[in-house]
Amino acid sequence: MQFIYLDNSATTKPCELSVLHTQSALKDYWGNPSSLHRLGVEAEEKINNSRQKIAELLHCRSEEIFFTSCGTEANNTALLGAALKGIKRGKRIVSTEIEHPSVLETLKKLEQDGFEVIRLKPDENGVIENEAIYSAITKDTILVSIMLVNNENGAIQNLTAAADAIKKASSPALLHTDAVQAFGKMPINLSKLGVDLLSASAHKIHGPKGIGFLYIKKGANIKPYLTGGGQEKGMRSGTEAVPLICGFEGAVKALPNIENQLKNQKELWDYAKQEFLKTDFITVNSGDEALPYIINISVKGYHSETLLHFLEAKGIFVSSGSACAKGEGSYVLKACGFDKKTIDSALRISFSRDNTKSDIDALIIALKEATEKLQRSKI
Ligand code: PLP
Repeated sequence: MQFIYLDNSATTKPCELSVLHTQSALKDYWGNPSSLHRLGVEAEEKINNSRQKIAELLHCRSEEIFFTSCGTEANNTALLGAALKGIKRGKRIVSTEIEHPSVLETLKKLEQDGFEVIRLKPDENGVIENEAIYSAITKDTILVSIMLVNNENGAIQNLTAAADAIKKASSPALLHTDAVQAFGKMPINLSKLGVDLLSASAHKIHGPKGIGFLYIKKGANIKPYLTGGGQEKGMRSGTEAVPLICGFEGAVKALPNIENQLKNQKELWDYAKQEFLKTDFITVNSGDEALPYIINISVKGYHSETLLHFLEAKGIFVSSGSACAKGEGSYVLKACGFDKKTIDSALRISFSRDNTKSDIDALIIALKEATEKLQRSKI
């Protein structure tokens, strides 16, 4: 059965080149990169080539890229490592209410360990206002963690303002950004962005699951989270996942020109918004400045999960929020100030380079049918 996949923020279909790179590394580069003999050296060369390719895309040094098992691990490493490093200088951490659970749960843990966590509230579009960032970052702030793109509504945050606020407050804080939904989808120039730490993951850009990285700016020197054999220059112990790293490289190599693709996605996003609003049953919860890979909508009066399964039966895959939220009402939309009716009927539509306008047309036809066939809920 042909299907329409509109859940690309949960994960993407691995691209041909990524699969080829993964398979060939599994077969031909199975040596341990730490081994001193030829098989090890060849495997090490492979992962360093991948590191180089990622660094080129981000305008940073390849030594600043540290492979992790996923975006979640990169976020944990960044937050725990930076907090442990900064503890002698202060205990204040600034973040937001709308981070991914891999950040929010780690912040909770840090709070239990005595850190003070400030969680900034977004506006209706999911954006943290600059004034809030400037007033929250103080001299004794040791860590600022603000995601680059939100996974539920696509809101883009102003990291340059956060970097400037740290400087203006004469704060020793390290600046971390969770760029899992941004990497490979919007231009990121680390020589200009001003962050010290950045997390990303391969499976959001048509690479394999189980591989991510943490960018650590030279000199940031956070404490390692995973300790052991000292791989990744002591920052992340554990034998490197050579095939997955090579698969990540394949996904990066297969990326189209990021700026051109962004223009294409914006055209698709604008079309989607316009067609959604032409109906009298769909409302749009994402702001116009959102990254045009994600659009959050509501079909008020119908439960998200019921809609999701109705669409699934028609061969259309969407999400009822973030994949990790597993059906619970979205805390992101709540933080943005949406009412219960909107939240309970929200769907996240997320695009990849493979989607077309006809996917949106099919989605709208199916949603119309849902409003005709499904019982309105009491919400
Ligand atoms: N951060 C954001 C914003 C995400 O959307 C996700 C995954 O959905 C993650 C982190 C976690 O990434 P991973 O699935 O690689 O652990």
